[in-house]
Amino acid sequence: MATDGKKLSTIAVHGGEPRKKAGDAITMPIQSTATYVFEDTAELRAHFERRIEREEYGRYGNPTVSVAEQKIAALDGAGGAALFSSGMAAITTTLLAMLRSGQHVVMTSDCYRRTRQFVTRTLGKFGVEATLVEPGDYEALEAAIRPGETRLIIAESPTNPYLHVADLEKLVEIRDRHRGVKIMIDSTFATPINQKPLDFGVDLVVHSATKYLGGHNDLLAGAICGNAGIIDAIRDFRGVLGSVVDANTAYMLIRGIKTLDLRVHRQNDSALQIARWLEAHPKVERVYYPGLESHASHEVASRQMHGFGGVVSFLVEGDLDDVSRFIDACEIPQIGPSLGGVESLIEQPALMSFYELTTEQRLDIGIRDNLVRFAIGIEDTQDLIDDLEQALEEV
Ligand code: PLP
Repeated sequence: MATDGKKLSTIAVHGGEPRKKAGDAITMPIQSTATYVFEDTAELRAHFERRIEREEYGRYGNPTVSVAEQKIAALDGAGGAALFSSGMAAITTTLLAMLRSGQHVVMTSDCYRRTRQFVTRTLGKFGVEATLVEPGDYEALEAAIRPGETRLIIAESPTNPYLHVADLEKLVEIRDRHRGVKIMIDSTFATPINQKPLDFGVDLVVHSATKYLGGHNDLLAGAICGNAGIIDAIRDFRGVLGSVVDANTAYMLIRGIKTLDLRVHRQNDSALQIARWLEAHPKVERVYYPGLESHASHEVASRQMHGFGGVVSFLVEGDLDDVSRFIDACEIPQIGPSLGGVESLIEQPALMSFYELTTEQRLDIGIRDNLVRFAIGIEDTQDLIDDLEQALEEV
């Protein structure tokens, strides 16, 4: 289906899919194959001489995976997308494809911690240097750019857990003042429904498709979107690293994305209502949600996003154990990492991603013991509020 001019909900359902599919099925078949066979040597020659388009071997491509890629590219308004076995596989493969020894990366310090770990520790071993800058400090970001050396600016928007929103217009202006620099935005928390960084001139957008795109807490995948030339090069490199996703997962992703628009709108609505409710609750010290006027990124988010997302972070009055009692008393959200699925998940970052750190070390990086991250699912909003209300009585 031609997606030009179509709305995102239509693209989510039909985008990237051939109109006529094998067996006249309405759904995309799962092409579960490791390899592809050639009719004869003439076809083999035609393939290697690029006179025909076809698959060769599973690590280089798969028709079900290609449809999932084209659907994501259509949603993000990208020339191409490449799919991977996880969000981290998308990030690491892309960075290894784009960077070489002697080059430099500028990254905001609130990027996903495994991305930071890869950039600062692993890439460091291969001679790629990185400078971390505070989110929102665009002067520091520009000052960190090294002429001729800096190849990439990496930022996330919104971020975890404080939901800082990067000003994409500002980032693009900075990039345009420096030759050879590209911008990669991890837009996992936003999805193409809430934010389309490529429309602002960003070069590359990454998604952990494990989260909202898959949407059901039942698959791991990642995607990178950008212009066709860069994506083809990254896809070729994926064929070397082998960070491919299988056809079954790609099918589940295609199926999940069909309801992306519905789910994200529901999660946006619930999150805003819950954030406002929490802000008025006497046992809640502070709420972080970019849809609230009180959030530092509210103005940027209002300009740049169509919705504010399904994650709300908040500080509950009390210490680590008081807050654990609140978490344990919740009956609907379950305790677990991740976000973006139909099931709500709740966690104390101090006891999840930052468990191995002391309270002091956590405070150094801005993670307080009484911080809660609530990743809202698609359950009834009032049921969720009622549940939070009874659970807060435990504090
Ligand atoms: N980017 C962000 C913002 C994330 O939150 C995560 C995972 O939590 C990742 C990337 C990594 O994705 P995955 O878990 O699919 O490898």
